[in-house]
Amino acid sequence: MISNRIGRLELSPTLRITAKAKAMAAEGIDVIDFSVGEPDFPTPAPIKDAAKKALDDNFTGYTANDGIPELKEAIRARFKQDHGLEYRRDEIIVSSGAKQCLYNLFVSILNRDDEVIIPAPYWVSYPQQVLMVKGKPVVVPTREENGFRLTPEELRAHLNFNTKALIINNPCNPTGSAYTRDQLLEICEIAAAEGIIIVADEIYEKVIYDGFPFISIASLSGKIKEKTVIINGVSKSYSMTGWRIGYAAGPREIIAAMNIIQSHTTSNANSIAQKAAAEALSGHQSEINQMVAEFKARRNFMLNKLRRIPGVSCYEPQGAFYLFPNVSAYYSSEHGGMKIRNSYGLAYYLLKEAAVAVVPGSAFGAEQNIRFSYATSMDKIEEGADRVIEAMAKLKESPKYKRVALQNVMTRPKGNTEANLQIPIEERDALVQEAEANLPYDRYFEWNANINGIIIQLRTNVPHLYDFWVENWYPAQLESDLEPHGIIYAVDGVPGRTPYAYYNPDMKTAILFNTSYYGQVRSWALAMVAHISERLLDVHGVRTACVDYNGRGLALIGPRGVKRGSTFIRLLEEGDAKFVSNDWVFIRYRGTEAVADAPERKFYFKTDIAKNFPRYARIFDRSKCENVVMTRADWTNMRELEDECPLDLGEPYCYWGSEESRALVDPAWIRGPQGYAKRTRMKTVALLHYEPTAPAVEKMTDLDALEYVTQGSYRTPSGAALSAFKTQPFFNPYMLISSPDQEDLQRRNFHQLFRIAKVFKVNVAAIPPQALAARIKELVG
Ligand code: PMP
Repeated sequence: MISNRIGRLELSPTLRITAKAKAMAAEGIDVIDFSVGEPDFPTPAPIKDAAKKALDDNFTGYTANDGIPELKEAIRARFKQDHGLEYRRDEIIVSSGAKQCLYNLFVSILNRDDEVIIPAPYWVSYPQQVLMVKGKPVVVPTREENGFRLTPEELRAHLNFNTKALIINNPCNPTGSAYTRDQLLEICEIAAAEGIIIVADEIYEKVIYDGFPFISIASLSGKIKEKTVIINGVSKSYSMTGWRIGYAAGPREIIAAMNIIQSHTTSNANSIAQKAAAEALSGHQSEINQMVAEFKARRNFMLNKLRRIPGVSCYEPQGAFYLFPNVSAYYSSEHGGMKIRNSYGLAYYLLKEAAVAVVPGSAFGAEQNIRFSYATSMDKIEEGADRVIEAMAKLKESPKYKRVALQNVMTRPKGNTEANLQIPIEERDALVQEAEANLPYDRYFEWNANINGIIIQLRTNVPHLYDFWVENWYPAQLESDLEPHGIIYAVDGVPGRTPYAYYNPDMKTAILFNTSYYGQVRSWALAMVAHISERLLDVHGVRTACVDYNGRGLALIGPRGVKRGSTFIRLLEEGDAKFVSNDWVFIRYRGTEAVADAPERKFYFKTDIAKNFPRYARIFDRSKCENVVMTRADWTNMRELEDECPLDLGEPYCYWGSEESRALVDPAWIRGPQGYAKRTRMKTVALLHYEPTAPAVEKMTDLDALEYVTQGSYRTPSGAALSAFKTQPFFNPYMLISSPDQEDLQRRNFHQLFRIAKVFKVNVAAIPPQALAARIKELVG
């Protein structure tokens, strides 16, 4: 129902934690909330008066789209007075908060995949907004030793042709760190020289301590100003978060583009609030000083308290109203059954144990830290700090704690590469030569796998691929006795090549360049074996999830998106089925028998099945994994500080959130050795499909079934339009060969299968998921 883009986005974690704290307070719990990102002062009276007057004057119509002249003049005057900056009126736009300015800006400047450099720790919305407009956030971690400031070297290391913008948040939320003039100059000169747009989020410019000289980036030089868009607003300086007034100043054409976007989305910012903001910016500024003096006292008090907690270090901020202590020394401790593993865990613990709400650092791209906002009264800070100290003192190093050695490898890329499946022999020879040239003797791994009697040799320089390969397959006899039937080169780091894969059907040679993704190596190995054994051994390779009921085999066949994987797990979990294979079997037809063998020692599972079957998370913890990209903290924290996540067993990884992750699992770990059968006799085939209007189950004749799989036309619930049918002949996207001969061979083999086994079309659109397994099991009889 919703777009793919939204899948990667999350409701702002700070909002959620604040809501959680409020909900606890409503239940009568005395929560101290350090999560809020706004001053706890009322908006100053003259500003409120200006709003009242605007209301009395019926200033309630649409205003100029980019802001009322009076407010723009006040903004211009502030820039001039505070920073000596001259902006023309058409170089300024007023929006509904700095947040909207930023969003309008990203919509205006980013093309798909344009990169935006975001120093971490970062304010939560930057990467999310960049993702929303299909840009690419490039998160660059900064170091506490450097005051969490981006260094010129760090900047340079991340520049490339796709770099479009750099965000500098000065002073920074969440660290409170601010840049000196020299530090700013160094990095902004690089950015300007490279033609990169500098997004200068200066919303905390007035909240600055100890006379630290705040420098607006646009004031550094004329050249830098030309590349800079300043983002600012009245939320923080004037205690006006809810009024929603922010502004941007920058090059005319960018501001004009932002104006267009705004004209079609929200139009002008609230008219009354604009009047109030004009008063805020042009009126007396003395209240800011009082507010900042108060913040400073709180900062000092709280900083002292936090720094005295054993093992905690805390950077002393120059601005904003946050403290961002490093609390990672507590990441292997526990108390009262609660185990702390990360920033989320500690935040959760503090909420439960001390009724203190803080934001986990993972929300800001800094897992070692948690964020305290001291924009709350001194009384609360005193009480809250004591509670934190007390709760932290209870945490003891967990004695039993042993971090699970999850052998998780990130691959590059994380999916299949593009491929050419029909390269001529000369090209094959040249590619083999190139591959060999990139396999140095001191980083060369080779192993023969026996995949259902066919021997495939892997030659690679990627330890991860070798590891998975050796673990996944039965070994073949020694190299000296046997030549492999097929060879896979998987070579990473080949200069001048993008990730790509080639196959030569004559020599049965696969060459994969610059990928370390095991999924593709595995699928290609199986596809090669199918290709070879169909001709050599008269064995039929079938992509199917297959279970065994007392020697009677059931095959689930179908395209992607029809719940093949989860139905398979349901059959295993709910019934007395044994596990044969979750993806491929090789079938021999003998008279009235179709004997199916599982080729793999291990099973390569998509880990998102843990979403519906939480116990698998435990199994994945013990398995070799690929591309588990999401820590448990990141994911849960993004959802909400949920009390109960079904997967939340205290482990550090989230298999649900890591969409592309896989685990190589020992089948015996699932239901013990009894729950596993390496061989079965196919008796029933369920052809899974998704068809809202069709019957739930239909028996098929062998010939109908044959036509149906040959065509392979299907649609899935997630398909763009339900009317859009796709085709995947034989429901197997991994057939390396597509020729009339190959089709004849497949048809012959499937026809044998459908003559021996009963075939049913099973409509997953017509059967609720919980009922699916029982319904399919009935078909086995
Ligand atoms: N930038 C930063 C760094 C912030 O911390 C915030 C508010 N938390 C904003 C922008 C957004 O401010 P506004 O209320 O004006 O949308």
